[in-house]
Amino acid sequence: MARGIDTKCIHLEEDEGQCSHYGALSYPIYQTATYAHPGVGQSTGFDYSRLQNPTREHLEKMVAALENGIDAFALSSGMAAISLLMEMFRQGDHIIADSDLYGGSIRLFHNVNEKNGVEFSSIDCCRDDVESYVKENTKAIYIETPTNPMMNVTDIRKMADIAKRHNLILIVDNTFMSPYFQNPLDLGADVVIHSGTKYLSGHNDTLAGFIVTNREDIQEKLRFLIKTTGAGLAPFDCWLVLRGMKTLGIRMERSQENAEQIAAWLQQQKAVTRVIYPGLPDHPGHEIMKKQARGFGAMLTIQLESKEFALAILEKVRMIRFAESLGGVETLVTYPTTQTHADVPKEIRERNGITESTLRFSVGIENIEDLIGELEKVFAEIEEEKNDGKKS
Ligand SMILES: *Cc1c(COP(=O)(O)O)cnc(C)c1O
Repeated sequence: MARGIDTKCIHLEEDEGQCSHYGALSYPIYQTATYAHPGVGQSTGFDYSRLQNPTREHLEKMVAALENGIDAFALSSGMAAISLLMEMFRQGDHIIADSDLYGGSIRLFHNVNEKNGVEFSSIDCCRDDVESYVKENTKAIYIETPTNPMMNVTDIRKMADIAKRHNLILIVDNTFMSPYFQNPLDLGADVVIHSGTKYLSGHNDTLAGFIVTNREDIQEKLRFLIKTTGAGLAPFDCWLVLRGMKTLGIRMERSQENAEQIAAWLQQQKAVTRVIYPGLPDHPGHEIMKKQARGFGAMLTIQLESKEFALAILEKVRMIRFAESLGGVETLVTYPTTQTHADVPKEIRERNGITESTLRFSVGIENIEDLIGELEKVFAEIEEEKNDGKKS
């Protein structure tokens, strides 16, 4: 019987029943750059840490198991992972990419990959007719679901059907859901991306990135590329991710519970004109999420009545931190316009609905009473100041 995901976050099946590493339960950090050979023409299995390192290999196997892939690649950041993946494409290749992606991915595609001759069609994969954009030189479809920050949901199975019909690689950035809630490879994707900086490590203390695949041809190309370009994750950072991953399940459950309650609270606030959380039944992607994921995650985006209100929240939060990033135990609030999406051209931002009164929350695992308590205080103070302003 296939193992449950909480078990897979803690144990690597193939390592069990052995007492290697003195029986250490925490996987050792092999802080070494190179490896001595037992003899001429012989190897311990490791030759040089750019190619592979035991701690990294262990982490890669764990992540591959979580996404039901045949192999995973641990890179020094999420962007290093996406950059490495893009090395699979060449001048003249065309990629269909969703327009509402992580800002760094958009920046990479349009400032680096396009310069190198890769063409992109930036479309709304959740609403546009994706198949009509397929051309003779199209090689891949690149999506995130739900998207960042507007939480648009794309039907992964539908994208996989289009990809199969035209022999394209379907790439899904699964950072927002983590393998705990969603497994794109099981739904027909060929490649999964993770910013391991987020939920997988979960403590806002390290950068990491992953590529996972279930295709041998892609695996072979990526092994060659990681060895050649050299952005493999360092042993200590691998260990931090391994340690964080052990609690992935309980962190995801708790932060999702908190997010549901915060979404409900925000819906009651006069100053909040829209709460975008896929767990709400009125979210347009709610039904698709139910079919392709095991949860709705802990990311939510809101529109406020004004830019001033949004900025005042950022000024006033204390325990909730005004910071970029997501997926950690701490609750964070982000201002997409000047932070994550600052480099996205204004017209794309506006088309996606990101305005100066948009805020994004990454809900953490604090006690819900404390989170809502802080929001209540912040909202009440802003309303009070608004009223004072009107009087004077
Ligand atoms: C953060 C993030 C990335 C980039 O990852 P880094 O680890 O910051 O390089 C890519 N995709 C998504 C969805 C992200 O949230």
